[in-house]
Amino acid sequence: MAQLLDGKQLSKTIQEEFKQEVQEFNTKGLKIPHLAAVLVGDNPASQSYIRNKIKSCERVGFQSTLIKKEADITEEALLEVIKELNANEEIDGYIVQLPLPKHISEDRINLAIEPDKDVDGFHPMNLGKMTLGLDTFIPATPFGIMTMLDRYNIPTSGKNCVVIGRSNIVGTPMSILLSRNNKVGNCTVTLTHSRTKDLKALTLEADIIVAAIGRANFLTADMIKEGAVIIDVGINRVDDASRKRGYRLVGDVDFAALEPKASYITPVPGGVGPMTVTSLLYNTLKACKRKH
Ligand code: NAD
Repeated sequence: MAQLLDGKQLSKTIQEEFKQEVQEFNTKGLKIPHLAAVLVGDNPASQSYIRNKIKSCERVGFQSTLIKKEADITEEALLEVIKELNANEEIDGYIVQLPLPKHISEDRINLAIEPDKDVDGFHPMNLGKMTLGLDTFIPATPFGIMTMLDRYNIPTSGKNCVVIGRSNIVGTPMSILLSRNNKVGNCTVTLTHSRTKDLKALTLEADIIVAAIGRANFLTADMIKEGAVIIDVGINRVDDASRKRGYRLVGDVDFAALEPKASYITPVPGGVGPMTVTSLLYNTLKACKRKH
């Protein structure tokens, strides 16, 4: 039976460390970290992610500001919001919750974010630094996964790793981080995607699998080898009449079937999700400390 990689518990532990640091800042009269979040429109998943991020800020003693805009805001008006956030000395870092409405270019918005305040780590300057192994903000989800592998002492050096999904925010940075020559890293990484031929042949050889596809129960037990480490990034809503809200959240991994076969596995919810929020807090703390 696999050991659970309990992102919820680990997040609590790490966030407690942040809280103590903030208390020290208070004692020393130093600036407290301040995160701003921009939410455009009323996508229920985005609203829930943002609520979580703001609540976590409160828990660790960070300041937070939520900026809500209607779905029909123009790109120019949103760029104006970005400009103000870049100029606001009080705010250490900010995020623009994705996805944005179709009429707004996510690339244009991303490029307008001041790299020193880009705590999501999506700006090309920060992604470039990450690729070169320079000090920077690492995108929250891959960073959360690296932290998890580190804190659970999971060996990565020389391991075969298959990342499923090549998004700019998860799969691609994940593949770079795992292949770098670092304490957690030195994997031989295969980055797979929708055009990959015979995915199962690749996953069957993998010591570590990171699934970031966005399809419920995509990775099945026949696709993994005995003792593999399974990291499930997916967050998918499936209908469930027994729940008050009418759905439940499941990952990209068939958890029940994989748990007996894997060595370590992340649950959904309670695995990668909380670690993502914790990494965002880490980046905000880092941005603030740069100013001290
Ligand atoms: P995305 O939706 O941008 O892209 C999905 C990727 O899956 C693409 O690269 C595509 O090539 C690949 N893919 C699709 N079908 C495939 C197939 N049959 N075989 C192999 N690859 C295939 O991905 P994303 O934004 O990285 O999100 C992925 C999932 O992770 C979603 O469920 C999302 O909600 C979730 N997510 C979770 C967190 C978290 O904090 N837990 C953070 C970000 C995203």
